[in-house]
Amino acid sequence: MRVCRSLAEFQILRKAIPPVKNVGLVPTMGALHRGHLSLMELAKSQCDIVISTIFVNPTQFGPNEDLSKYPRQEIEDIKKLEQSKHVDYLLLPTVEDVYPKGFSTFVNVEGIDEQKEAKSRPGHFRGVTTVVSKLFNMTQPQKAYFGAKDAMQCIVIKKMVRDLNIPIEIVIGQTLREPDGLAMSSRNVYLSEQDRKISTILYKSLSAAEQLWNLGKGSHCEVHTSASNLVQEILKVLSQEPSVLVDYISVGSRADGSELSIVDYHEGAIISLAVKLGTTRLIDNIELLPK
Ligand code: AMP
Repeated sequence: MRVCRSLAEFQILRKAIPPVKNVGLVPTMGALHRGHLSLMELAKSQCDIVISTIFVNPTQFGPNEDLSKYPRQEIEDIKKLEQSKHVDYLLLPTVEDVYPKGFSTFVNVEGIDEQKEAKSRPGHFRGVTTVVSKLFNMTQPQKAYFGAKDAMQCIVIKKMVRDLNIPIEIVIGQTLREPDGLAMSSRNVYLSEQDRKISTILYKSLSAAEQLWNLGKGSHCEVHTSASNLVQEILKVLSQEPSVLVDYISVGSRADGSELSIVDYHEGAIISLAVKLGTTRLIDNIELLPK
């Protein structure tokens, strides 16, 4: 694996990749875990060359978020990537590479303001779409890989690619979980031992809603259910752990993430939630598959 610590160094190597090669990109913010590595493995199974990037993107963090304490584990990350053998080039651009002095151009997918993750983190998706489009331009892949763990991010990036005619196929990899159900995340290292145990309640609550959904879906007389039924089921489970503070529970369209009040059994939905546990914000989601 070639490790490039600057864009200039990477660009020389990128030019040398023959145009016939199929290139896949896996952008990350580092502190790599098996969820990240699964995306790289998927990329390697579909592409000749895999490029990954590690960049903790300042523009997607709000003023009261964890930018300065976001885990940075460059040496361990490089070791993991070397061992996995899925990545050919690792680009670690500098902040100046991505946001040179005088930078003032942003990419913004409009019309997502009512979506709960967007509301909860104002400006977050603008930072994501800006950095992702810049990483696309820097690496010029044919395919780019993102995790279903960040459900709204997937929807927003697919929309950006469609709206701007970006000639890149977006591939979504499934969420990898710890054996007890907690979705893998770089932020899980923030959890105290006690909170780590409590955190399993997130997936338990989503699974309870999924069970309710499957029950209704199996019934011949029902055509839809109300989103509030599903939300109540989740709240019932989460209330077993009073230290879990719910930021939001969203029942959104699988197509565009817009909030649903009624969910058609033939359409399905994505239930996403965000909670605060101690000082850590955790997100997770589950897809309710249609009939
Ligand atoms: P991040 O480093 O958190 O920006 O994540 C980089 C990519 O890895 C994003 O596309 C995430 O959606 C994806 N990802 C994060 N956690 C997981 C997970 N548990 N399973 C699969 N993909 C993940």
